Amino acid sequence: MFAIQKLIEIVGVENFTDQLEELVPYSYDASMNVHRPDAAVWPESIEQVSKIVKLANEFKIPVVPRGAGTSLSGGVIPIRGGIIIDLSRMNRILEVSIENRYARVQAGVVCDDLNRELAKRGFTFPPDPASSTVATLGGNVATNAGGIKGAKYGTTRDYVLGLQVVLPTGEIMHTGSYTMKCVSGYDLAKLFIGAEGTLGVITEVTLKINPLPRHAMTAVATYAKLEDAGKAIFQTMTSGVIPSVMEILDKVTLKSIKENTDIDLPEAEAMILTETDG
Ligand SMILES: Cc1cc2nc3c(=O)[nH]c(=O)nc-3n(C[C@H](O)[C@H](O)[C@H](O)COP(=O)(O)OP(=O)(O)OC[C@H]3O[C@@H](n4cnc5c(N)ncnc54)[C@H](O)[C@@H]3O)c2cc1C
Repeated sequence: MFAIQKLIEIVGVENFTDQLEELVPYSYDASMNVHRPDAAVWPESIEQVSKIVKLANEFKIPVVPRGAGTSLSGGVIPIRGGIIIDLSRMNRILEVSIENRYARVQAGVVCDDLNRELAKRGFTFPPDPASSTVATLGGNVATNAGGIKGAKYGTTRDYVLGLQVVLPTGEIMHTGSYTMKCVSGYDLAKLFIGAEGTLGVITEVTLKINPLPRHAMTAVATYAKLEDAGKAIFQTMTSGVIPSVMEILDKVTLKSIKENTDIDLPEAEAMILTETDG
């Protein structure tokens, strides 16, 4: 009871809930796991996140940071109850520096929202998980999200220049830099990438951004034998041109697409979908 009162003091009554109907959605993500938290908060600043985590540490209450809840692995399910820290109200794009090729964002910014903003200036943040219409950049970092363009552009890890993180004690840590080439010191940011929120709550992210490619072309090829598709991928990836997309669809996948859509696909053992850009 005392902890609840304290939580309300930290975030305000409008950013706190322990109501069943609001906690039920927080029992799920995109996986098969289910467990209800005891409370959820929507912090609006790093100071609030720090105080929440300090309080939880003092009372030994489990906390789970949450972005959009699109996790496919149960990462946001509060299996021991406790507090969900929903970062979705920390959703401001803080700075876009085209000259220095970085964007600084709060953790709750949605991936596509950043890309819409960057596109106006001819730039992009390349990692593109298929959940990018709703997934947050904090969630992308915590899961090291990749996407269909991973063949050329890699995963979120390759774009994180720096992080602001609230540690389990509630202390605030800044790590990384704003420069493309930073070689000094321990690379602590990397430790938090893919850690699924187990090491702290990410509140701010500095991301490397790229100029938008001006041209892109796609190609599709079908194969009578799966091995031939494998050989074609190997030959393409070693040809000197790295495709931006290189996806293989096997017979089962092709059948599933045919049965569930009206896309007219040819009969084949395998298909490769590829794109080059520049
Ligand atoms: C339809 C669909 C398509 C997908 N496609 C892809 C894909 O192509 N590639 C891919 O890699 N993934 C994909 N995913 C998985 C998932 O969407 C991504 O991993 C995404 O990055 C998660 O973002 P989120 O904001 O929803 O995070 P959440 O699901 O809310 O959280 C994911 C994990 O990160 C932690 N976390 C979230 N925010 C923070 C924070 N601020 N600080 C610390 N920890 C935090 C959570 O505790 C949890 O462990 C897909 C999911 C769906 C449903």
